Amino acid sequence: MKFLNRSPKFCAICQKELKHKHKPKKEWNIEGLLCGDCHMDKMRQYFEGTMTQNCVECKSKKKITDLWEPRWQWEMEGLLCKSCFDKKEKIFAEEKEFCSICGAKLSFFRYTPKSKWKVTGNLCRKCWDSNKARNG
Ligand SMILES: [Zn+2]
Ligand SMILES: [Zn+2]
Ligand SMILES: [Zn+2]
Repeated sequence: MKFLNRSPKFCAICQKELKHKHKPKKEWNIEGLLCGDCHMDKMRQYFEGTMTQNCVECKSKKKITDLWEPRWQWEMEGLLCKSCFDKKEKIFAEEKEFCSICGAKLSFFRYTPKSKWKVTGNLCRKCWDSNKARNG
């Protein structure tokens, strides 16, 4: 006589025999089933993991609620802590105001460099023209 599915199951983490089976979330990459304790532990870690993230600039770990989304103009991914955000904003404001190459103050006219020039910020007319002549 054969019993189907009667072999005892063990927790994939602590190897305890399972009385109550808990299914791990697929994000955890765990094969098999978990006991209540391990499941609860994992659950807690998982939520802590989703609640904290590293600042993409200084890599410090912060609560997501303390992190800032970069402005779209900065063309970056991830989140920033307050101090990195402020720094970025300052740099960006300066970049916007001055020519990235010669440092001349930009008035009403500012020119966006072509992406293949690998120049960030804006350029004055003179520098834009000379880049265009050199790099096309
Ligand atoms: Zn367990
Ligand atoms: Zn930071
Ligand atoms: Zn310039």
